[in-house]
Amino acid sequence: MQTGRLIVITGPSGVGKGTLVRSLLSRHPELNLSVSATTRDPRVGEVEGKDYYFLSRDRFCEAIANGQFLEWAEYAGNYYGTPRALVEEKIALGQQILLEIEIVGAKQIYITFPKALRIFILPPSLEELERRLRDRGTDSEAAILKRLERAKTEIDTGKEFDVLVINDDFEQAIRDLEATIFAKP
Ligand code: 5GP
Repeated sequence: MQTGRLIVITGPSGVGKGTLVRSLLSRHPELNLSVSATTRDPRVGEVEGKDYYFLSRDRFCEAIANGQFLEWAEYAGNYYGTPRALVEEKIALGQQILLEIEIVGAKQIYITFPKALRIFILPPSLEELERRLRDRGTDSEAAILKRLERAKTEIDTGKEFDVLVINDDFEQAIRDLEATIFAKP
């Protein structure tokens, strides 16, 4: 049986980590995505248990108190967290688990799961990040400004991670991720 592994992909909102992760998952069926819990409302088309586990604030806080998250963070007014038991079970079964999470939570993984590979995705520039957030069309103007403000300080923290990948040319970013994830030890 192959050895299980935790791979964390993080970076500022709008940097394209969701698209990169979806592409990696479709190209490499041996990679599995961990489904997070959140207190935010589902967006149109999002499915419970597939995109997120949608929890009330009370239920989320109860799970924090019971140590049920491998990491969690408040992001743009909502809570997000990685269910610990699901990840640990899958890794024990030898699976390679991907987390696609924001940066505060990704930093916690250094303590809760030190063996994880932690990858930070950078935008080519702040201007490009703003353009991508607007093109996505999923957030209000206030939410976009909040996400951009946060991104400015986040980009600096990239140096704390194991690997930096710039998402400028998409195919090149995928090749860089593959080279890191599938590197021979
Ligand atoms: P969205 O609301 O756009 O789905 O996600 C907002 C941010 O929360 C994204 O940067 C996403 O990567 C992050 N996120 C999703 N799930 C988790 C999680 O389990 N933990 C943390 N820390 N961040 C998460």
